[in-house]
Amino acid sequence: MTERICKSAEETSLEDIRQNYNAIKQDIAEAMDKAGRTDSVRIMAVTKTVPCEKINFAESLGIDLLGENRVQEFLGKYEKYSEKSEIHFIGGLQKNKVKYIIDKVSMIHSVDSIELAAEIDRRASMHGKVMDILLEVNIGGELSKGGVSPQELIETAKAVSELRNIHIRGLMTIPPAGGDEKYFAQMQELFYNAKQSCSFFADADTLSMGMSGDYAAAVKYGSTIVRIGSGLFGYRNYTV
Ligand SMILES: *Cc1c(COP(=O)(O)O)cnc(C)c1O
Repeated sequence: MTERICKSAEETSLEDIRQNYNAIKQDIAEAMDKAGRTDSVRIMAVTKTVPCEKINFAESLGIDLLGENRVQEFLGKYEKYSEKSEIHFIGGLQKNKVKYIIDKVSMIHSVDSIELAAEIDRRASMHGKVMDILLEVNIGGELSKGGVSPQELIETAKAVSELRNIHIRGLMTIPPAGGDEKYFAQMQELFYNAKQSCSFFADADTLSMGMSGDYAAAVKYGSTIVRIGSGLFGYRNYTV
C-alpha cells in the first residue's frame, strides 16, 4: 500500500476525496484477495472536523456509513447528512451524553464499561429500541486509551449481554501507533475465541479495526469495518 495522505484537509478538494476513496477501495480489494477473504469490508467515513459539504460529497460517491466521535459536533451536523447513511458512534462516550445520541445512531463502537452499557440500555429502552454495540478492547494495554483489557473481555461481555436493550455485535480496537500487525492478529484471535466459547458472542459479526494508516493490515486480519478519516478527507492539523 502506498502512502497517499499528502494533503491537509484544507487543501483536499472534492476530486481528491474521490481519488482517495477509489484508492482505498482498491487497497481493500487487494488485501481481501491476498487474505483469501470472500466476505465484505465496509468503509466508514470518520467525520470529525470535516465540513458537511465534504461529507455529503463522500456520500454521493457511495459511502453509506459515517463515524462520529464528538457528541457536540455531531449534533450540529447530523441533520445535513444523507438519510441513506447509517451513523455509528465511535468516540469516547460519557454516560451523561448517551441521551443525545441514542436515537440518532445505529451502533456504538466504544463501549468499555458495564456502567456505560447500563446507561445505553436504559436510554435505548426509553426509545423502544435495541442498540447494537461493540466492546472496545485496549489491545496494546495503553493507559491513554479506553477499552477493556483482553483478560476482562469475557466477564464484561457476559454482564453486558444480560442487558435486554443491547445487542453485542462484536469488537472494536484502536491499536498502538506504529503499525505492528500483531495487535490485529491478537484481536482476530480474541474475536474468534469469544465466538467459539461464548453464546452471547455466537452471532457477533463485526470487527471494527483499521484507520487511515493501517487499514490494509487490519483487513488482512479479518476487520469488517475500517474507520477512515484523514485518508479520505486529508490530515487534520490539530488533534481531537
Ligand atoms: C479519528 C478516528 C479514526 C480515523 O482516524 P484517521 O487516522 O484520520 O483515519 C478512527 N477511529 C476513531 C475512534 C477515531 O477517533
